Amino acid sequence: MIRTIDLTSGGTSYRIADLRRLGLGRLPWVHRILIENLVRHGEDLAPLADWIATGRSDAEIAFWPGRVMMHDTTCGPALVDLAAARSALAEAGGDPASLNPVLPVDVSTDHSLAVDVYGSRDAFARNMAREMERNAERYRFMKWAASALDNFTVHPPGTGIMHTINLERLATVVTGRTQDGALWAVPDTLIGTDSHTPMVNGIGVLGWGVGGLEAESVMLGQPVMMRVPRVVGVRLVGRLRDGIMATDLALVVTHRLRQMDLAGRFVEFFGPGVSGLSAGDRSVVANMAPEYGSSTGYFPIDEATLAYLRSTGRAEAAIALVEDYARATGLWFDADAEPIYEEIVEIDLSAVATSLAGPHRPQDLASPAEVAVLMGGDAAPGSPLPRRPIAIAAITSCTNTSDPRLLVAAGLVARKARALGLAPPPWVKTSLAPGSPTAERMLARAGLLEDLEAVGFAITGYGCTICIGNSGPLPDMVVAALDRGEIRPCAILSGNRNFPGRVHPLIDDAFLASPPMVVAFALAGDAQQDITHAAIGTASDGRAIRLADLWPNGSEIDAVLADAVSAKDFAPAYEAAEASPAWATLAAPDGALYPWDERSTYLRRPPFVTTNADSRLGLYAAAPILVLPDDITTDHISPAGAIPAGSDAGRWLAARGEDPADLNVFASRRGNWEVMLRGLFTNRSVANLLAPDIAPGETVFAGTGEHLPLWRAAARYADEGTPVVIVAGHRYGTGSSRDWAAKGAALLGARAVLAAGFERIHRSNLVNMGILPLRLPADHHPATLGLAPRDRIEIDARRIFPHAAVPVLIRHADGGTVRFEAVAEIETERETEILERGGLIPLVLSDRLSRIRA
Ligand code: SF4
Repeated sequence: MIRTIDLTSGGTSYRIADLRRLGLGRLPWVHRILIENLVRHGEDLAPLADWIATGRSDAEIAFWPGRVMMHDTTCGPALVDLAAARSALAEAGGDPASLNPVLPVDVSTDHSLAVDVYGSRDAFARNMAREMERNAERYRFMKWAASALDNFTVHPPGTGIMHTINLERLATVVTGRTQDGALWAVPDTLIGTDSHTPMVNGIGVLGWGVGGLEAESVMLGQPVMMRVPRVVGVRLVGRLRDGIMATDLALVVTHRLRQMDLAGRFVEFFGPGVSGLSAGDRSVVANMAPEYGSSTGYFPIDEATLAYLRSTGRAEAAIALVEDYARATGLWFDADAEPIYEEIVEIDLSAVATSLAGPHRPQDLASPAEVAVLMGGDAAPGSPLPRRPIAIAAITSCTNTSDPRLLVAAGLVARKARALGLAPPPWVKTSLAPGSPTAERMLARAGLLEDLEAVGFAITGYGCTICIGNSGPLPDMVVAALDRGEIRPCAILSGNRNFPGRVHPLIDDAFLASPPMVVAFALAGDAQQDITHAAIGTASDGRAIRLADLWPNGSEIDAVLADAVSAKDFAPAYEAAEASPAWATLAAPDGALYPWDERSTYLRRPPFVTTNADSRLGLYAAAPILVLPDDITTDHISPAGAIPAGSDAGRWLAARGEDPADLNVFASRRGNWEVMLRGLFTNRSVANLLAPDIAPGETVFAGTGEHLPLWRAAARYADEGTPVVIVAGHRYGTGSSRDWAAKGAALLGARAVLAAGFERIHRSNLVNMGILPLRLPADHHPATLGLAPRDRIEIDARRIFPHAAVPVLIRHADGGTVRFEAVAEIETERETEILERGGLIPLVLSDRLSRIRA
């Protein structure tokens, strides 16, 4: 029986779970929140006594998040699935209107905005107009969902990036909620279909990124099933030095923690250094949790949390509830406490230096001077551009635009540069896309908006833009010099990822940096220039200007911030953006069932949403359709960027009347399984090790030896009744929480993926699509298995349970054999059930039908 006590806050009485009586004082704060969630949902803690006593447990627990967040590209596939599920339910005799999310779902419309126009004051309006034109059909669909589904809110284009919206507007930290007829106070918790969901951990809200499929199951009333997470404690000591930005700290934390294997583990920050960080600083660090490899980057609730809530205009009663609840339950931070962590890492904040990361991975730390070394010293003879021009300089991403301090620092660099008569060279594509529309008011009040505009950083929109690779075309002179083979352009951005091609298909090298550093590099325009020693530019009076002449100190930033940030900005800024006429006038269908249109090139009813599906388990001999090296990311598996006209996906669209010159990006076409299927593994850096010289996106069809696009080969294998599997190396599925990486494998007919190791969200997505993830033994790797097209992989997956040993026999076409046991990467009994029932959606739908029929 759950023991509760009453808490009175602001004159209102709340029921709360009596956590103090449970003796949780030495557990990590994230564990305390999970235990509150369990007891409030009536779970018996007796079997978990060991957990409370020792801080460790291998038990499987349920977690009921309070809400779900999605964005327009991850919500698209989930909504298509929901709409298709309503259609399937109706066809099977059920009431389609009965299928709704059972908890609040908030969807941002941020991932589709591209930087077509930049460097001018009308850039935002023009980019948004293009966004509405390109995405009208998808946005109509989202508008239909907002009216047809209960508990479903869409934040229209122009209202900002999901994690900033969450920080500034949605997160309550502690929520009053009616449950079982009583008013409870409960911790605000969520899952989000985006790996950077933990950004909100910076203000004491527990949440993490999940795959869209897992979110769908939560929306339909299932808990998140998980093992008690192992928690790594990061003890922070010291203080950041003057001039050091939160970005620098986040990159140092990423560099340090990425050296550990944090897959599936939670990270929590503790120690005396935490108190010296603002909630804005903490959120930058928390945002990069997926880059350091963990599920969370949690900072407990303290005075800085309350100060942030106050600065963003939250009601005083709501702020008082946060403090009263956290103090009453033991969720309030104690700088002297050292909870029981599985492992502890110490980071001295005073040792953090100005940092960038790149050119290919967010964990590869570099000082500003090292960037020049990494980019080499050779010149481009005869070219008007330097050999390594900065072609893109972007103040972008929720990561580094949600904290006003970072934007003010960028504005101050711009102000000094403007006063000295500096400006970026013409080959630099400059952009400023803050996480929310409040940034414009703040920068304008400080007079910094004009300074930023004067050096090219006019606001280009409120969305992900360059961070997600929606960079628009490069300047003509860059494209021309590239065509002549004279240059290798680079990018600098305040984002969080820099895989080759992520920022722009023509750019392989990109450095992550703070917003003021982005402005400084834009002014220099040349990645080979050591901007700490050489002149960034020449002032109007002939003086050589160096980085130190432009860099703001802490008191300069503080002085501007004090007048610039107003709590009164937040509600009006969002309300004005939400009232967007473009959204209000967008015509959308209504009714419980979505009217599918066979001619649509955006929304097509997917074949895997069905009330009955065959399990992919069993005993079978499969053809290896793909054999892949280490570090295949979800970007490699399922692209997000532009759809090339000459690709199979492009030809499919052109054959249906689409303009080959403007096919939009894959991320916008995720409601169309035909396009997504044809885009699989087409990233030019993906090598299929099955045979030499296989083009990206192709394989060798064993039946004839032909090189075929994967989707064609998969169809041939399906026709002849040959199962297929994918074989991959370490860290398979790293990167974005991209459903389509798993849905694509399902459409290829894969029954299993054998990998040396899986990234957490992708592993879960594979299970939810009914595909068995199998971990290869440590002494086997795709590069050494010697797989060839006509080999067969026999897998005995008849008896599956969490971490089951699965016999595998490779029969090489030349007669040789290799036998080993792989490990089923299944975490819970629930996942076993999902695999046995052919995937999550068939399971949920068939259960719903059974209940209706009963
Ligand atoms: S990390 Fe980048 S792509 Fe992801 S939500 Fe933030 S801005 Fe958008």
